[in-house]
Amino acid sequence: MNLKNYIADVENFPEEGIIFRDISPLMADGEAYRYATNEIVKYAKDKGVEMIVGPEARGFIVGCPVAYELGIGFAPARKKGKLPRETVEVNYGLEYGQDTLQLHKDSIRPGQKVLVCDDLLATGGTIAATIELIESLGGVVVGTAFIVELKDLKGRDKIKGYDILALAEY
Ligand code: 5GP
Repeated sequence: MNLKNYIADVENFPEEGIIFRDISPLMADGEAYRYATNEIVKYAKDKGVEMIVGPEARGFIVGCPVAYELGIGFAPARKKGKLPRETVEVNYGLEYGQDTLQLHKDSIRPGQKVLVCDDLLATGGTIAATIELIESLGGVVVGTAFIVELKDLKGRDKIKGYDILALAEY
């Protein structure tokens, strides 16, 4: 299945000159959503994954059905102030300014094999911050999985040494 047929190219969003790759048509199509999920499930099985982490908010859409299918847990990485209990946090750079991502302290056990899921890999800032959080809790990131990779933005270079599954490339 060619997943690019289910990804909408939205010009000049969220800013002039940017082409936003919108995965909502993929999510709206049951077969395509299941196909993408199953591809990540296969990858996760190969890696012996024990826990899934996804960054807010589209990482939940990608990661949760994978966790459900594998019968394992999912932990959300969220923007500062959203998680109610004790957290670890990391600041990361955005194109303009900074943001903070948090994980509940008890969401990962030391040594646990973790897969990080998100909809899209761009500059790699979000995934690098999520990996840092997991590792600060002693988790072992055995892979990362995305629906889309934007090759030109070289996100791969920011997470050198980590395995990457990308289902569609631009
Ligand atoms: P990065 O941190 O790799 O630069 O950006 C990736 C993050 O920004 C992901 O969490 C993703 O949801 C969001 N993002 C950036 N650009 C796009 C885009 O064109 N389409 C979608 N769906 N998400 C994007």
